[in-house]
Amino acid sequence: MDNERSAEHPVAGRDLVALPKAHVHVHLDGSYPLAAVRALAAKRGIDFDVPRSFPDVWSFFAAYVTMPALVDHLADLAGLCAELVRAEAAKGVWYLEPAIEPQLYAPRLGSLAEVTHVMVTALQDAGRATGIEVGANLTVNTDQDLPIADDLARLAAQYAGHGVTAFGTAGFEEPAGLGRFARAADIARAAGLQVVAHAGQTGGPDSVLEALDELGATRLSHGVRAVSSDDLLKRLADQQIACDVCPVSNVGLGVSRSLPEHEAPALIRAGVPVTLNADDELWFGASVVDQYRVAREQWGMSDADLAGIARNGLLVAGMSDATRSRYQDALAAWLAASPG
Ligand SMILES: [Zn+2]
Repeated sequence: MDNERSAEHPVAGRDLVALPKAHVHVHLDGSYPLAAVRALAAKRGIDFDVPRSFPDVWSFFAAYVTMPALVDHLADLAGLCAELVRAEAAKGVWYLEPAIEPQLYAPRLGSLAEVTHVMVTALQDAGRATGIEVGANLTVNTDQDLPIADDLARLAAQYAGHGVTAFGTAGFEEPAGLGRFARAADIARAAGLQVVAHAGQTGGPDSVLEALDELGATRLSHGVRAVSSDDLLKRLADQQIACDVCPVSNVGLGVSRSLPEHEAPALIRAGVPVTLNADDELWFGASVVDQYRVAREQWGMSDADLAGIARNGLLVAGMSDATRSRYQDALAAWLAASPG
């Protein structure tokens, strides 16, 4: 974390790694551990590095796709998926919902169906091995993938209850024309999947309305720019539409002015369910634990507040009832323990 205040004056409280967390806005390819990505790149003679900052969101998108391009074999893809799950488990993540985009690897490494199978299988196997639950959010890129959106939705539906819990959209929002993906969202919804849309990040309140009204999204990836509309905030609170917020990413891409001025506290005050997430740790260098540290140190949140945010993950994410029950007990135990 590039944060002088926290480095010099850490705020005391319970251990944030031990806080049971649902990590539900985490892009697979933007979140593999850096050491694993570097090792893979080195095998190809490439010195993979991460820029310190991005001048705009387009330069970020351009950098993002350089990582999947490093993967030459399905076995390497499976290995990276497993590395991600292991790394997240070590950070106290109980339920991981990675956004997977098989189209970033297909058809280069295989068909959409083959790549999806490798991803879902590797994530599930690693989840079982580490004792955490994993449910993928199969995500369509709204900038590129309209012709295959229905195929992706059908694939997501095929894995509903077997490793996929959500169907998502990501891409530039101004707004994004999400109505074009309504049929794909219907396919996913009919299979019992959640529909999760990126909105209120690069786009303003109109992009959030589009996600709600044209796609029927019940969760928003980001949603932070909804704070400029009181009517919209009220609607998000009334309908309990969750915002899966990523503070460090938002500052890194200029969506939010600074961590102390981040929009999450305003969303929470308005009654909107908020979860805290890393988005792309590989690129922004901050883990899910770091986001909770921001809430404690920059927004003055108590451990009860932080447990409340973690509890929102119970309410909004597609985890099993068994995990939800264990997670709830573990959250209560975390808060009952005396601060370290
Ligand atoms: Zn995102």
